[in-house]
Amino acid sequence: MLDTADVVVVGTGVAGLFCALNLPRTAKVVMLTKDQCENCDSFLAQGGICTLRSPEDYNSFFEDTMRAGHYENNAASVELMLRGAPEVISDIVGYGVEFDKEDNGEYQYTREGAHSAYRILHHDDLTGREITEKLLKEARGRENIEILEYAAMVDLMVKDGRAVGVVMRYRGELMPLYARAVVLATGGIGGLFKNSTNFRHITADALAIALIRGIKTQDVSYIQIHPTALYSNKPGRRFLISESVRGEGAVLLNKAGERFTDELKPRDVVSAAIHRQMEKDGMDHVYLSVTHLNKEMVPRRFPNIYKKCLEEGYDLTREPIPVTPAQHYYMGGILSGGEGQTSLTGLYAVGEAGCNGVHGRNRLASNSLLESLVFSKRAALQIGARLNGWKAVLMKPDLKRYEDQAALKSRYKQVIFDEIRRKDEAFYDQWCNDEDIDG
Ligand SMILES: Cc1cc2nc3c(=O)[nH]c(=O)nc-3n(C[C@H](O)[C@H](O)[C@H](O)COP(=O)(O)OP(=O)(O)OC[C@H]3O[C@@H](n4cnc5c(N)ncnc54)[C@H](O)[C@@H]3O)c2cc1C
Repeated sequence: MLDTADVVVVGTGVAGLFCALNLPRTAKVVMLTKDQCENCDSFLAQGGICTLRSPEDYNSFFEDTMRAGHYENNAASVELMLRGAPEVISDIVGYGVEFDKEDNGEYQYTREGAHSAYRILHHDDLTGREITEKLLKEARGRENIEILEYAAMVDLMVKDGRAVGVVMRYRGELMPLYARAVVLATGGIGGLFKNSTNFRHITADALAIALIRGIKTQDVSYIQIHPTALYSNKPGRRFLISESVRGEGAVLLNKAGERFTDELKPRDVVSAAIHRQMEKDGMDHVYLSVTHLNKEMVPRRFPNIYKKCLEEGYDLTREPIPVTPAQHYYMGGILSGGEGQTSLTGLYAVGEAGCNGVHGRNRLASNSLLESLVFSKRAALQIGARLNGWKAVLMKPDLKRYEDQAALKSRYKQVIFDEIRRKDEAFYDQWCNDEDIDG
C-alpha cells in the first residue's frame, strides 16, 4: 500500500539515492521528489567530485577544506568525509559511474579554486549527471525502492517525540505516508532567491518544517554565493560557469578589460571582489575570459559550458563572457551528526539539507557531492541497524492545514528568511530582501 513504508526518503538527488541504495534490501523504501527525478541540483554539478587520492594528500585536503570554511568547520566531520572518500568513489564506480582518464588509463584529476592539489575526479563537465543517472538507474532496478515523482512533502508527522512519516501532496491530493524512519534529502535553498544556480523548486521546505517544529538547525545564514554565473536579465535559474574554468586559467576582467583579483581564492573572497568591482564599474556583471587559453582545449574540456554559452550568443574561445555572482550552495541546514541523525528520533538529514558542519562558513569546491555520498551512506547504515527497534505508528494528520498551497509556500519562505535575518542582518539585506522571488 502506498501509505506505508519502512523508510521514507524525501529527495532523489545523490544524497537521497545513495542513502536508499545503502538501506537494507529488506526495508520498503519510498522516495519522494517534488518534480521529475532528473530535475535536482545533483544533475547540475559540473566541476567534479573530490577524493582522497592518497594518504599523503590527507593533510593538505583537510587544510584546504578548513581554510575555505574559515576554520569554522566541524573537524570530526571533515575527517569522516576525507577518510570515507575512497570507499564511496569505489561504490559508485561499482554502479557504473565513469570518470575521465588519461591516455595511460589513470584517472584524470582537476583542480578548482582554493584547492592546493589536483584531486577532483570529473566526467567531462557533467559529473553530477553521470553520478546521479547511474544511481537512479540502480535505484529504479531495486525491488524494495519505489520512487514517486511530483510528490511533495508538506510536513513531517511526529508522535511521542519521534518522526513517524510525512504528509505529502501527490497527484494533487494530500495524504499521510507512514514510516518508521524519515530521511530528509531535500537539497538546498536556492529556489528562494532571485539569482540562483539551483532549480526553482528546491526551496528548503525541510528546513522550514524543522524551524517550525523546533528541530535543531545550524548555520542558517551560511549561504554560498558563487562568483561566476552566466549573466542574464531573464527570470529563472542562472547557468553556472564552473570554478574549474578558472582552475584551468580563466581570468576575471573589469569594464576596462583588466584583471582585478586572484581568481583562485575561495568563493566568498572572489564573490566579494566581483561585487566590489561591479559597484566600482557601475555594471551588473564583470567578464570572464579564456581567450588566451588553447582554443581546442576549451570546448574539449568544457563541452557543456561551451555549448550553453554559444546558445546564449557567446563564443568562449573568442570573447570574454559576462558573469555575475549568484546564490549557489547552502552550508547551513538541519543539524545532523556523523550518521545524519537529527535532534528528532527517527529523523535524518543528509546532503545539502543537513548540516554536520563539514563546510564551516564556506564550502570548498567539489566537496558537496562527496559529502552527500559519505554521510548518506553512514545514515543508511545507522537506520538499518536501528530500524527494528522502531515500530510503525499511525496518526491522523489534519490535512486541511495544508490545503492552501500558496499560503504554505509563503509561510515557509518567511520562516526561513526571518531566521536568516535574525542570524545575519547584513547578508539578509544584501541577498534576501528581494520581493521578486517566485519560489
Ligand atoms: C549548477 C551547480 C553546479 C554544481 N557543481 C558541483 C560540483 O561540481 N561538485 C560538487 O561537489 N557539487 C556541486 N554542486 C552542488 C551539488 O550538486 C549539490 O550540493 C548536491 O548535488 C546536493 O545533493 P542533494 O541530494 O542534497 O540535493 P539535490 O540534488 O538538490 O536534490 C534535492 C531533491 O529534493 C527534492 N525535494 C525538495 N523539496 C522537496 C519536498 N518538499 N518534497 C519532495 N521532494 C523535495 C527535489 O525534488 C530533489 O529531488 C553544484 C550545484 C549546482 C546548482
